[in-house]
Amino acid sequence: MSKYTLPNLPFAYNALEPHMSKEQLTIHHDKHHNAYINGANDISQKLTTARKNDDDIDVKSTLKSLSWNIGGAVLHTLFWNNLAPENKTTELPKGMLLEKIDIDLGGFDRFKKEFTQNAMSIEGSGWTVLVYDLTAEKLELMQIEKHNSNIYPGYPILMVLDMFEHAYYIDYKNDKAKYVEAFWHIASWEEVNKRLEEVAK
Ligand code: MN
Repeated sequence: MSKYTLPNLPFAYNALEPHMSKEQLTIHHDKHHNAYINGANDISQKLTTARKNDDDIDVKSTLKSLSWNIGGAVLHTLFWNNLAPENKTTELPKGMLLEKIDIDLGGFDRFKKEFTQNAMSIEGSGWTVLVYDLTAEKLELMQIEKHNSNIYPGYPILMVLDMFEHAYYIDYKNDKAKYVEAFWHIASWEEVNKRLEEVAK
């Protein structure tokens, strides 16, 4: 019973070039994302079987592994969908998103700087994330360590950037800053604005 399935990319594998190469995107999607999908299904199945047979398992390590794999599965799907070919996106956000960036985050330039600093300061592997704080009704940044630590529980994710080495090493080697800079050319502001409008009404 496989519940998690690898989604198709919303664009061709070469559609994000020159910012993200076909080779980089293919391996990232077909190998890395797929591994989290398989991991989430395998562990979920293992839990179902253990419960059915009343088997003893290492609950702590199994749930930790489930969290890692579900986090990876979900975040990558969000990531592909908040990317777009350069000629199909705008340089700057529009609409409610731009208004909220101005009010909540000190304007687009400040937001870009902080989002970049958030990305560059991740220790090891993680994600730089734009979220909506439902309580304060404002945009906020979040830094997810690995796929599953440091999360604000229940806060809707509007935009993510994968800062695992596997996300950029083929294209940029150790030059993380160049990868983050490239991201701004292929961020889908339409999608991010749509997510904001859905959660902030
Ligand atoms: Mn990744």
